[in-house]
Amino acid sequence: MSTSSNAPSDRFETRAIHAGQEPDPNNGAIMTPVYFTSTYKQDAPAQPRQGYEYSRTSNPTRTALQDNLASLEGGAWGLCFSSGLAATNALLDRLVPGDHVVAGHDLYGGTYRIFKRVFERYGIRFTFVDTTQLAAVEAAIEPSTRYVYLETPSNPLLRVSDISAVARVAHAKGKLLVVDNTFATPFLQRPLELGADLVLHSLTKYLGGHSDVVGGALIGNDPKLQGELAFFQNAVGGTPGPMDAFLVLRGTKTLHLRMERHCENALALAQWLAKRPEVSNVIYPGLSSHPQHAIAARQMRAFGGMLSFELAAGLEAANTFASSTRLFTLAESLGGVESLIEIPASMTHASIPAESRRAQGLADGLVRLSVGVEHVDDLRDDLLQAFAKAHARSARAVR
Ligand SMILES: *Cc1c(COP(=O)(O)O)cnc(C)c1O
Repeated sequence: MSTSSNAPSDRFETRAIHAGQEPDPNNGAIMTPVYFTSTYKQDAPAQPRQGYEYSRTSNPTRTALQDNLASLEGGAWGLCFSSGLAATNALLDRLVPGDHVVAGHDLYGGTYRIFKRVFERYGIRFTFVDTTQLAAVEAAIEPSTRYVYLETPSNPLLRVSDISAVARVAHAKGKLLVVDNTFATPFLQRPLELGADLVLHSLTKYLGGHSDVVGGALIGNDPKLQGELAFFQNAVGGTPGPMDAFLVLRGTKTLHLRMERHCENALALAQWLAKRPEVSNVIYPGLSSHPQHAIAARQMRAFGGMLSFELAAGLEAANTFASSTRLFTLAESLGGVESLIEIPASMTHASIPAESRRAQGLADGLVRLSVGVEHVDDLRDDLLQAFAKAHARSARAVR
């Protein structure tokens, strides 16, 4: 099976549409077919055509997606999974009891859960540190550390870690750096080019882009890592079906167009929210008030579609606010064309104990927005009417 060697262009926008995808040589079909087959005809015993013998192991629609993603991240290979967490699982399947992972301390809730509640039971150890602090990362690395694992921007506090600097620290001690690039996407940030060894994605978010499919991926350069991870992809079997692969391939074709509008809308709303009297703190890497704004400006093309803010009136007001929006739908997940709103403490991050949540700076009243690609004026008007409702509710409560 091919990898991303057939790069059609140096330019992202062209690769998004063409990498990994050739018109069908038999009938000229432009779009990669959805290969609904579990098995493949062999020419003689143990002689599969083009390497395909069983669809858990490989499927041509999945191959097209893997090659497309490898090209977008600037990697040599990609491996796709049935979810982002299945990709994280494959990464951890390489480890043995006694191995250790240094991870960021404000991770995606499900990542924290698979670390603590699944793999800790098998004797893998995890240390959580603030990966924006290089000294903290360095101090946490042990001889048995196998990965430094970070998310940038992180979720939901949008902390930005310096990927090249962390890569230097990890490599000085002979460790691999894994970056979850779900929030930024390869259009905004390419960790492999900044020194990371592996990139992880939840394809469920921006890469799928339409909130209609769940998937995950690992992308890298080292062929030895590819072999090991492909072994676990097949041996454990958390692979995507061909329809899922097709839907993500449809999504990646417009990634650059969508991301430009997500970023534009999010920046405009962040600037507007920063001036609202109801809001005590706006967290967006594109604001100069963001503590790592300079690093974000250096390693990202633009600042993403996610933003968080705190309502000065607290949790009650935040709950009313999040239940009062009309265009921003109250829901978990992110990265689709439609705008979503959620309260991390009670929804996506509820699996993190309250004390550790607060210790990490995740306030109970924090509101997270996944800013979609609707007209920005409609999004602003929606937030404005929700502010009025939250205000009316707390005014009644005072009386
Ligand atoms: C959603 C998400 C995941 C997990 O992906 P699933 O597709 O939901 O399994 C991992 N990391 C980040 C940053 C995510 O947003």
